[in-house]
Amino acid sequence: MSLKNNLELIYNSISEQVKLIAVSKTQSVPVIMEAYAAGQRVFGENKIQEMVEKYQQLPKDIEWHMIGHLQTNKVKYMAEFVHLIHSVDSLKKLQEINKQALKYNRIINCLLQLKIATEDTKFGLSIDEAMSILSSEELKNLQNVYIQGFMGMASFTEDEITIRSEFKQLKQYASNLACYQSPIFNPTILSMGMSSDYLIAIEEGSTMIRVGSAIFGERNYI
Ligand SMILES: *Cc1c(COP(=O)(O)O)cnc(C)c1O
Repeated sequence: MSLKNNLELIYNSISEQVKLIAVSKTQSVPVIMEAYAAGQRVFGENKIQEMVEKYQQLPKDIEWHMIGHLQTNKVKYMAEFVHLIHSVDSLKKLQEINKQALKYNRIINCLLQLKIATEDTKFGLSIDEAMSILSSEELKNLQNVYIQGFMGMASFTEDEITIRSEFKQLKQYASNLACYQSPIFNPTILSMGMSSDYLIAIEEGSTMIRVGSAIFGERNYI
């Protein structure tokens, strides 16, 4: 199967309400250009430096999404162009994003990453931590960030029942947290679902899927 076929298969299996982020981590510029030629304009990376290098070499109508664990000291490198940061997991990181966004006179869109997987290897906020950020006084001062919703990753398992219940949990958390709505926080996005579980995620209310290997083939490394 060609990359173009893979993309078409996914486009045909999702509705227009669901946005596809093509996860291009570890993929080369020519390979990303192949996806671009097939019409894909939204790409996700998990390392800031890798995303910056690709941003510099690729067409400027690409929307770049940061989906990987954030290192605070590197936020400055992507502040000029990043479209959505999916992986915000502390108030401190929001403050840094706000500070860097201000330098470019931008408002940077963010999602709070919530922990839903039972394995403890996954990053993310507990519901209580998310509540404390969303209700904090400090958040009100962050005029250059806009929190548009939540991201979560299901456990690394083949067990569909576990995966589905974790996605249900994320959707439930998102509706519980919606009461904190403010000028800085308006939750409309639920980023959940990867190559192996995006159809389940969509059934459970995902609006944004992050798909790598089902488009580009298996990676040699994460
Ligand atoms: C790598 C990655 C994906 C995509 O994984 P695939 O299984 O290749 O689809 C999605 N989300 C995050 C956070 C990732 O790091």
